[in-house]
Amino acid sequence: MAQSFKVALFPPKCYVCKAFFKGFDSDLQYRRLPPHSDTKGSGFNEKLLAPYLCSVCINNFVAMGSPLCPRCGVMFVGRSGGDHLCGDCIRRQKKFTRARSTGIYDGSLLALIHQFKYSGRSGLARPLGEMLCHTYARYWEVGDIDWIVPIPLHPRKLRRRGFNQSFQLLAKWPQYFSGKNGGHQVAIKADLLRRVRWTAPQTGLGRRERQSNIKGAFSLADGAHVENRSVLLVDDVYTTGATVTECARVLLTEGADRVDVLTLARAI
Ligand SMILES: [Zn+2]
Ligand SMILES: [Zn+2]
Repeated sequence: MAQSFKVALFPPKCYVCKAFFKGFDSDLQYRRLPPHSDTKGSGFNEKLLAPYLCSVCINNFVAMGSPLCPRCGVMFVGRSGGDHLCGDCIRRQKKFTRARSTGIYDGSLLALIHQFKYSGRSGLARPLGEMLCHTYARYWEVGDIDWIVPIPLHPRKLRRRGFNQSFQLLAKWPQYFSGKNGGHQVAIKADLLRRVRWTAPQTGLGRRERQSNIKGAFSLADGAHVENRSVLLVDDVYTTGATVTECARVLLTEGADRVDVLTLARAI
């Protein structure tokens, strides 16, 4: 069935505001870009979201970008000037070397992540995972990272939800880097870290409470070694950084050379 005919019969419904919208412009359809190409300003994220969101909700997506803190990745409200360390990173040495995120955890991205995690919209793993992949390619060079590690869920939570959202976001990455895309291998180590302690939800807790709540929640899997490895931790949302900081602490204690962080969304 021709795309235009199909869209006329079954107009897509915006995942966020539920409005029917005219079919997305086929020119907007995503054309795969090679990893490690500069996707800055290409509207790449918007193209990936076009089949799911109306134009109003697409405009509610805010991509992260400079000026930001080169360490923790927080984006400065003032949009002029260059990247510089934020006050928090000046006061406190972070465990991780660098954190980056795709977009602000607000508006459309917040709604999409909630639908993906809690409302059974598993198909969103593809566009969201691809957006995350391009954020990775934008900030990390080939060879910077040895292992990519999704933040694990506690087995009880995994059983309840049925999937680990961070792992689902990574699931298609190997094919993006295969064949003509340079053959760059990404080693995804989903079993490197284990969540060994059940923790209360972090929602509603402040930074200090989050830190103490998550302490001791992770350990290295039996028989795993991370000596001299560069590890990239992947999670769906960075709120205060307590979870990734605790994971980074475990990995560095076990001898990892460096720990970086990549999340789809960043709370502001
Ligand atoms: Zn909408
Ligand atoms: Zn910072």
